[in-house]
Amino acid sequence: MSHKLKVAEARAEYITEQDVWSHFNFIFSEKSKNSASYKYALVKSLLENLYNVNESLELSYYQVFESFTEIYWNLVIHHNLSQLNLKQKSARIETVLRESLQKHNLNEQIIFERIPDQVKLKIVGRVISECKNDVMGALYGDTQGMIYSFDNYKRQLKLTASFYSFMQKYQKVIMYLSNYHLALFLEKFNSGSSTDGLLLKIENVSKRKSLNSFYLLLASVYQKECFYCGKRVKSRRGNHVDHFIPWSFIQNDQLWNLVIACSKCNTSKNNKLAEIEYLEKLIQRNCHLSENENIIERIDMQLYTPNKLEDLYKYSRQNGYTDVWIPNK
Ligand SMILES: [Zn+2]
Repeated sequence: MSHKLKVAEARAEYITEQDVWSHFNFIFSEKSKNSASYKYALVKSLLENLYNVNESLELSYYQVFESFTEIYWNLVIHHNLSQLNLKQKSARIETVLRESLQKHNLNEQIIFERIPDQVKLKIVGRVISECKNDVMGALYGDTQGMIYSFDNYKRQLKLTASFYSFMQKYQKVIMYLSNYHLALFLEKFNSGSSTDGLLLKIENVSKRKSLNSFYLLLASVYQKECFYCGKRVKSRRGNHVDHFIPWSFIQNDQLWNLVIACSKCNTSKNNKLAEIEYLEKLIQRNCHLSENENIIERIDMQLYTPNKLEDLYKYSRQNGYTDVWIPNK
């Protein structure tokens, strides 16, 4: 039984796109055994961490399960949605999160990003301990071991090269598919919820409420100047932070993708890609930023390479972000 595996090697490093599609078709079909919603949440977590891989395409469980925990924190604690297809029972993840809420004396309204770091570390640690055996082997089994290797002892997974390029290329459509199928799954076991309503909740589970900490960090180095038009930004709030590669595509907040932008640029750029000269400017900015002594230790900057940003730019265009935006200076 593959879902009981604790360590497994990927069975092939290179498989065709058609093969990966057939695995995804299986995961999203009735044939795949889904007693809980874990597979969809894992696919979403992998997508959110696609550009957090190191040079060997490895991800730590902490990275993956932090996203996983955040997804469930919203679904279970905020929206009170059951994650299991058995009535009167709870999925392990629900029990872990509800117990953590009590143990750490957290208010049910607290959003995941506001949980103090030390407490978050403990909650994610517990989710890894309690859920890894049900989660890692299940998706591995459904894809016949073709998309990643994993090691539950080292708490690490490694994506295969073909799967990684596949995910880059089809990122948007895979995100749509996993959100949609998660909504369909939840609709069956949560009466009174519509697919549309659920989809909206799912699409926003990982969205940050505030980028203020990023703003303060960037403003301390870059004098509160708009990255695009150069004008001075007056307010001190995080709503002046722009995702260079739109959030709707990258679904993650990494310092290397964030810039200070004035309201005018931020509003008019919205969900578009900036012209390529700004990509070059951002690569230079990141080169400078990564040398800053207050930033050098940050994990997102350590995992950053100019290549990742260039890939993201290229793949976001391929995924439908074809409107190119130029600031009105
Ligand atoms: Zn501007």
